[in-house]
Amino acid sequence: MPQILKRVDTQSLVVFVKQQGGLALVSAVAATSLLYYLFHSTTHAAHVVESVRKRGISKRKLLTRPEEKYASLKVEKRFVNPFEEWTEIPFYKTALFWMGRWKGNGIPSCEKELDKTLPVMKPDLNRIKTSNAVTFTWFGQSTCLMTLDGLTILSDPVFSKCSINDYLGPKRLRPIPCQLEDFIDTVDIVVVSHDHFDHLDEAAVHKLGNSVVWYIPLGLKNWFLKRGIQNVIELDWWQEVTHENRPDVVISCVPAMHWSGSRTPFEKNNTLWCSYVIKSKSDKIFFCGDTGYSPELFKAIGDRYAPITLAAIPIGSFMPTKLMQHLHMGPEDAIKAHYDLGCPRLSVGIHWGTFMMSDEHYLAPRQVLERVWETYQAERQDNEMQSMNYVKDTKFTTTAFGQTVILD
Ligand SMILES: [Zn+2]
Repeated sequence: MPQILKRVDTQSLVVFVKQQGGLALVSAVAATSLLYYLFHSTTHAAHVVESVRKRGISKRKLLTRPEEKYASLKVEKRFVNPFEEWTEIPFYKTALFWMGRWKGNGIPSCEKELDKTLPVMKPDLNRIKTSNAVTFTWFGQSTCLMTLDGLTILSDPVFSKCSINDYLGPKRLRPIPCQLEDFIDTVDIVVVSHDHFDHLDEAAVHKLGNSVVWYIPLGLKNWFLKRGIQNVIELDWWQEVTHENRPDVVISCVPAMHWSGSRTPFEKNNTLWCSYVIKSKSDKIFFCGDTGYSPELFKAIGDRYAPITLAAIPIGSFMPTKLMQHLHMGPEDAIKAHYDLGCPRLSVGIHWGTFMMSDEHYLAPRQVLERVWETYQAERQDNEMQSMNYVKDTKFTTTAFGQTVILD
């Protein structure tokens, strides 16, 4: 290359680098400022919401009726948790948690081993269809098929292969016990606790459509209407409605400590989250949505609705404790809730062994539940035998996927 061209090239290069370097520097400064502004304004907004939330709780402190004390609460058009126990988790902590989710949960690679540790059974659909008793069949996560006085109730129906849909999100650990199509014609009622993907599966919603009555928490109706589903009844905490043509069956929406959103950005807490009590003349079913543990809350539900025949209570997604304890109950919290609820005849652990979205070993929810239940039972027997308050006929257990339990 001639010397003159070399010089020109070098000069051009220096100019180019200077220009591009300057541009890069300006872009970096602008991006950092924007990030700082966003971080600062969201942190500031979060502090404002938190102080209004706390003021709301302290105003309610002297209220004695749980319906008032734990009425749903909104701050700046978004729902918040009116419970002392609640702590907001900063976004960066959640992000760090998900970045560390490569660790695994001790899941064996061998399917035969999984068949032993997490068996899948075929649901007894004939018994379910013909039984007038309370029955319970777990389909994984919070999807439960339950019957009450001849009505068939499905909770948080999720039938996808992964937590978000058939392709996205943590994969289902075990196959679904049977397809929705195998019993869809028998479902009368669907209760939805909140809009998180592992509780509200769009494909299942489309399949069930307007052939069932949907009971959903406040704010979620539009989501259903947009998908052509009008047979929905939106409920606020403590609201009760009788089921169509069945004046003896009452559906009650009760509070939970959780959050909503995550389907699209910027929609956090636009809709409510809840649990349900479904009551007939002879029995009551408590379906517990995702919730952290709040003793006062469960006692309030127990005071109002005990005795409960069957309770489906979440026991999984509890580690790391610091991050999860206000969002989800672990087995010990679930057992405390069982007692607060007035000792249902049977509580069954749900929300475990399905999609791995937390750090505990995949069998820990069941193992810890069994161990802690035994300890509590022994202690309680000693304490309560003397006061004659001992409830003998109460149990907290887990079932296999698809196993049908009948409470005659
Ligand atoms: Zn959730």
